[in-house]
Formats: sequence, C-alpha cells, structure tokens
Amino acid sequence: MISKLKQTPPPPERVITPQCTTVVPANTHFETWRKGRYADLRPHTDPARCQRESVVEIDGKPYCTLHGGKVALAKWLKGELVEKVQA
Ligand SMILES: [Zn+2]
Repeated sequence: MISKLKQTPPPPERVITPQCTTVVPANTHFETWRKGRYADLRPHTDPARCQRESVVEIDGKPYCTLHGGKVALAKWLKGELVEKVQA
C-alpha cells in the first residue's frame, strides 16, 4: 500500500498575459499556413505575430522570453542597458 504523507501545494493559477509583440517574418514562415492554422487554434490572436505569451515588457511592449531576450541583447550591445553594480 502506498500512502501520501506530505500534501503538495496546488499548482499556481495561470496568468494570462498579452501576445508577444514580434511580427514573424513572412519569408521564413508560410504566411497563409499561419493565418489558417492560428485562426483555427487561437482566433483571438494576431496570426502574423509570435504566438507565445509575453513574460516581459520592454519599452512598453510585451515580449516572450525568446524575443524579449533578443531585444534585451540588442539593447545591451548598443549600450542602452547599464550594468547595475551591487554595493
Ligand atoms: Zn515572441
């Protein structure tokens, strides 16, 4: 017999965030396929944009981890981000 000795906490509630801002280039993805496929799967989203949920906001725009990382790296390389020194 197997019995549970310790109760595990319930999973956290899902947080709904805006769709990622990044527009996926049409030349690398099939635009027609995207419009048809995502219109069926996620009619409330823009099929031209990345289908991931946003996790960060950069300059007022929501981004997923993939595209937010690219934007942050580009800003870093341009010197727009300043490293914070811990005291
Ligand atoms: Zn994205």
